[in-house]
Amino acid sequence: LFERLGVTPVVNARGIYTDLGGSRLSPRVWAAMEEANRTFVDMPELLAKSGDHIARLIGAEAAIVTPGVSAGLVLAAAACMTRDNPDKLDQLPDTDGLPSRILIQHNHCYKWDRMVRLSGAKFVQVGDTSGTTAEAIEAAIDTSVAAIFFPAYLDSEAGTVPLAEVAEIARRHAVPVILDAAFHNFPTPRFGEMLAAGGDLTLFSAKYFGGPNAGGIVAGRRDLIDGVAAHDFTRVGTREIVSLGRGFKLDRQLVAGVVAALEEWLEMDHEARFEGYERHVQTLCRVLGDVPNIELTPMFFTMEETLEPQPINCLHIRVGADAGTTAERVVERLDQGNPAVVTHLRGDALVVDFEVVDDDDVSLIGRRLREELLAGE
Ligand SMILES: *Cc1c(COP(=O)(O)O)cnc(C)c1O
Repeated sequence: LFERLGVTPVVNARGIYTDLGGSRLSPRVWAAMEEANRTFVDMPELLAKSGDHIARLIGAEAAIVTPGVSAGLVLAAAACMTRDNPDKLDQLPDTDGLPSRILIQHNHCYKWDRMVRLSGAKFVQVGDTSGTTAEAIEAAIDTSVAAIFFPAYLDSEAGTVPLAEVAEIARRHAVPVILDAAFHNFPTPRFGEMLAAGGDLTLFSAKYFGGPNAGGIVAGRRDLIDGVAAHDFTRVGTREIVSLGRGFKLDRQLVAGVVAALEEWLEMDHEARFEGYERHVQTLCRVLGDVPNIELTPMFFTMEETLEPQPINCLHIRVGADAGTTAERVVERLDQGNPAVVTHLRGDALVVDFEVVDDDDVSLIGRRLREELLAGE
């Protein structure tokens, strides 16, 4: 099909990125989606029961599948704004008469905050570049505040109040905390740790645990999850107007895929998963072993896109000054091939990530890398 459309296939040695299609679905996830395709269901019932099942699996009070964290953020913000005014559900994104300010610490501002604002909520930055204090957060809370927003990976960012303290302040004022924990899923007890960390609604992206690119989970307090459900895309027939969530529609196949991927992720032998990456790294090291003027270092490419020594999931290839080519040129030429081989460029090095690479990919990556590293000018 891709060939017929003239779409260049990509060998993905970069990792899990939405622009490249997210993750690679396992046979088990794919089978669950195929099974769901054979039978129709009542979508509200599927969402409610799959949500309960997911909640039991990760240890949350309640949960619901959304089409990704981004959509989940819109619905979570909507749920926080309308939680005491269910009669005003259908007026969003018009927020008249609703608490609609969502607080964020200045140094927590990040690109996904736009999703929260899409609900109609207004973001209020507390503090400035020099930092935010607990007192400033507390002083900013009044009856117009619907929630406090917190990106989990920016906890401990310089000049920010830690999550535990923010959660304590929020609890005292009965203001919910929305926690973006999109990739906090490994090791698997991380789900439970995140849920206990102080968010009232905590979001996980399915793309990071082997689920569909357009899948996500909102988990947390029962009343707020019910609020998210009240804004979801279903119940069109019983409403005057379509819900806010109609633009974030889900297929039953996708819900099945998220459930199956989460089950598989929780049962998986993750040590074996990393051994698989390391085996691929060793294969590539053998293929490139005799290429002069390069330096090969097996490393760990983290979710924060930093490099650490362990556990191995990538190969760092430094291209020396005498190599006759540069890392930049190699990355560019790999990218322009058919199939394209996409990697990371890091200064004078390439990073080849094995997270979504299969056996066939490894031989092709090795062959193409050898060609380009030996190609010279
Ligand atoms: C990927 C990501 C998101 C968006 O998640 P989607 O499920 O792709 O909508 C939000 N926050 C962080 C930190 C992410 O990495």
